[in-house]
Amino acid sequence: MTQYGQFNMFTLGGVIGIVLFLLAAIFSISGFSGQQPAIAFDGKYSGKQGQILIVKVPTDEEAVRVQGTFLGRAVLFFPETRAGETKGFVGLLGIDLQDVPGTYDLTIQITQMEHSRSLVYRVEVVKEKFRIEHLKLPKDKVDLDAQGLARWKAEQEQVKEALAADSQSKLWEPKFVEPVNGKRTGIFGSVRIMNGQARNPHNGEDIGAPTGTDVAATNDGVVRLTVNHIFSGKGVFLDHGLGFYSMYFHLSEVLVKEGEAVKAGQIIGKVGATGRATGPHLHWGVKLNGARVNPYALLDLPFKAEAKSVIPTPDSDSGSAVGAPAP
Ligand SMILES: [Zn+2]
Repeated sequence: MTQYGQFNMFTLGGVIGIVLFLLAAIFSISGFSGQQPAIAFDGKYSGKQGQILIVKVPTDEEAVRVQGTFLGRAVLFFPETRAGETKGFVGLLGIDLQDVPGTYDLTIQITQMEHSRSLVYRVEVVKEKFRIEHLKLPKDKVDLDAQGLARWKAEQEQVKEALAADSQSKLWEPKFVEPVNGKRTGIFGSVRIMNGQARNPHNGEDIGAPTGTDVAATNDGVVRLTVNHIFSGKGVFLDHGLGFYSMYFHLSEVLVKEGEAVKAGQIIGKVGATGRATGPHLHWGVKLNGARVNPYALLDLPFKAEAKSVIPTPDSDSGSAVGAPAP
């Protein structure tokens, strides 16, 4: 009997050992190294292409670092300071105008000393109905020759390099300013057909205004780059910190220098029609952690000086998020 029992125990132990070995193998394959399993979903949010979602991570912990990843893009969080809001961290999640509709994970890592835990939010990217825009432009503004193409590529590289290092501190304040009070064309994200050829979608908003009209910085920041590019014309790139940039193109004049700190509402240039433009207007663009978002979504963010409650989406079961409605 004793022998039989021992044999049984040995077999059981062996089976457990094999099962543990298999589990370890499965988890190591799925990249489960030193992190918590990403099986519990902590909430679900939803927003349209080109919108900004506010993601709240409620936590009482002090001295923590909160960082998220969505579709391979980093989402940086900052402490909640709005009056009447629960303690925690807030992140602005940009949905790129060309993110493919579907549901994706937003994985958030909360690190305190050596301890780390993660939250997983499901984010639904909803299709936005963008307009189709037909433009008639001089042939040389659409079909670049070899020299023009080389210049355009070098300019793209220059922008990429300048915007590669995100300021790790939040420079913006809850006071977004519309850079020009002009005629909004509502063509953010529009599919562009130039001289009958499909081109990249319009990655900003155009505001019609006479040449020489003042252009204001939408918020506090640092002038990261000033350019005179083939398509953008004279332009300014402002770095507002934590992966958030605003762009101002086709200016007739640039009134700021690279590295200069600017305040919300400060005049940084004048409206013009430089670069590829059919008439005087401001092209206003915003990039949030690499995502091209509708700049007007900024003005709808609940980051006013006064406290404003954040409305959770119907199926969110923890945290809160709102999609700023596109104008
Ligand atoms: Zn434009």
